This record gives sequence, structure tokens and C-alpha cells, in this order.
Amino acid sequence: MQVFPVTLPSGVRYWTVLDESMAMVPAADEYLRHLRFGRDAAELTTRTYASGICLYLRWCQRTGRAWQSAAGFIGLFMTWLQHAPTTATQAEWDPRGSEVRVGPGVEPARGARRVNVVLSAVRGFLLHAASYGEVPQEVLAQLYEVADARDLPIEARGIDARFRLRARHRMREAKPDIDRATNEEIVALFQACRSARDRLIIGLMARVGLRRGQLTGLRREDIHFLPDSTTLGCRVPGSHLHVVRRDNVNGAWSKSRPSRCLPADFLVVQAHDQYVLERAACPQAEDSDFVLVNLFRQPLGAPMPPDAINRLVTDLSRRAGLDRHLHPHMLRHAFGSNLGDAGAALDEIQELMGHASPTSSEPYLHPDAQRLRAAIDRVPSPRLLGEG
Ligand SMILES: [Zn+2]
Repeated sequence: MQVFPVTLPSGVRYWTVLDESMAMVPAADEYLRHLRFGRDAAELTTRTYASGICLYLRWCQRTGRAWQSAAGFIGLFMTWLQHAPTTATQAEWDPRGSEVRVGPGVEPARGARRVNVVLSAVRGFLLHAASYGEVPQEVLAQLYEVADARDLPIEARGIDARFRLRARHRMREAKPDIDRATNEEIVALFQACRSARDRLIIGLMARVGLRRGQLTGLRREDIHFLPDSTTLGCRVPGSHLHVVRRDNVNGAWSKSRPSRCLPADFLVVQAHDQYVLERAACPQAEDSDFVLVNLFRQPLGAPMPPDAINRLVTDLSRRAGLDRHLHPHMLRHAFGSNLGDAGAALDEIQELMGHASPTSSEPYLHPDAQRLRAAIDRVPSPRLLGEG
């Protein structure tokens, strides 16, 4: 079994499945054509689906099952997918003649995401074959569980569908790992800085959590680095800055999202104090509202473009002799992770990181054993024992 691209006389391409004798597998070809031309799927989608169907047919062949009725064994197919080598060559080279290697220490050949993509392709294939009678209807019950659509909001129920289908087989996909800069890397960047401005930039990303665009969009009026800002017309206590969404082209204020207020710590305030002096030495910067301006390259005094932040972090990574080139976003991730490590609650992380949904903040919560213990210890003990 293998996947193969087919080019039609019109030049349109889709992918199909060929068997050992290089003949098209009719049911698979019928479905892949339907995807490409009936459902207007992209060529790339047909390739992904063809390779998923190809894996299923290969597994059916090796285990002596008819593809039309093997759906009841999808659980076994999932195990096979995780552990069978990803290329035919690997299987041929296995001296034990078995292509599945399962056991402790054996890395899965395919991750959960890949397995789920294959399963979607197989479900689509069998569902389509059932629609023209090649696959018995009861196979669908092995693939899908029927849920009552009355649990759904009215808009989602459809016109007269009282039931909806939910795939039975699905692997839990791991949460994406957060690619953060380590605290050692951040200190090394600070030390590699040659100006107060650059130290402020690193501080605003790694200790306030600003995104690159927010950083370069900061105006002087947004900085309230004072113990008390009431004279500036702001009642927020302590040193803080405002993140305001503006349309930078015409200077209009965007009302689509309320501005946020972020506290700044001593290190950031200190870096800013030093930067104010550095910036004042550049006369071209005097009239600019932007906080971060060109001080060392032309046009002097012009707002720093967002790309300049990437270049700075790359240069600093190299100058600091780091093993890898950091990306501005990794400093923001470090901020979020440090908040989580310091025991910040989900709503605090969400607010400080400016996430619209708490789901985005969840990856930063990874309590270690010590924090779990401390959480238990904070709960007052009921006075049940030793009384009476
Ligand atoms: Zn303020």
C-alpha cells in the first residue's frame, strides 16, 4: 500500500492509495475524489487523508481483517499506529520480523496528534463507504457514539437532528510545552546589554510580560512609574504602566478592548530612570511620544520598529554566548512561568498576561510538590481530634 498523486488533464491534483500491484484501491479512491471535488478539500488534505487510509488498509491486510468490518478493532489499530515504524524500510530491517515494538522505554512512533489525524481520515473513509452501502451501517456505531443533541444549544442542534455523532476513539493530545527563557539566560541578556534602553526592553518583556508590539507601541504618557500617580490623573497605586491599544496609523484610540494596567517592579523602574537620562541626550527624540526610540541608528529619535526587538534579542543572545538564540516571546513566557512558579492564581496570570481566556494561562500553572504541600497546609485543620 502506498499513496500516490494523480494529476487530472485539467492539471488539478489529488492523492490516492495504490495496492501492491500498483492498482488503485477503488473505495479509497472514491472517497479521496469526493473529498477533493465534492468537498473542495485542498490537495494537501487529500495527501494527509490518503496516508491515513493507507495505514489503515495496511494494518487490515497484516492482521487479516477485512477493512469493511475492522472498525470494531480500532483500539488495536491505535496501538499499532503508536508503535509500528513510520516507514516500510524500518519494518523490513527488524530482525524479529515483527514490526510492532512495545514496552517500557520504547518511544511511540507516532504522537497523539498524528494518531488523531489518521483516525479522522479512517472515520471519513468508512462513513463515506457506508453512505453508498459498501460498509454495513452498524460499523458507524463502532466508530461513533450517539449523543442526544438536546444537550446542545439550540443553534447547534440543526434543523431536525435530535442526535449528534461523537467519535469514540480519540487520543488525548499533550499540552504544548512553553518555550521559555531560563532565569540564567535572562540575567545573561541583561549583562550583555550596552545601553539602559536595552536593559529596559529586556525588563519590560521578562518582568512585565509585554509583547513585542505592546513594547514598541508604548507612549511616554503610559508610564506611571511613581509611588502615587494622582497628579497625573491616575488612581492606580504604585509604579505601573498602561497598555493601550491604539491605531498607530492615525493615532485614534481603539475602544475594542479596555486598556490594561500592569505593575512594574523596582528593576524595571530603575532601568527606566536610567533610560530617561540616556534618551534626553538625544535631541532628535525630544518631540517623540514613543518611549522606545532609535538612539544609535538613523533615523535618530524615530520609534523603534517591532523587528528591531527581534534583532536586539538575537544580538544579545550571541553576545551573551548563549547556546541558542532567544526569541522575544520566550521572555514573555518566562514571565508567565515565573508567576506560576511563584504561586500566582490562574486569574492573576490571566490578567497580567492579558489573556482573553484562562485556557491560555493554564500552561503556566505547573505546581511542584512543595507548592501542593503548602496549599494543603494553608487549609485550617478542623478541630475534630483531641476534643471532647
Ligand atoms: Zn496609571
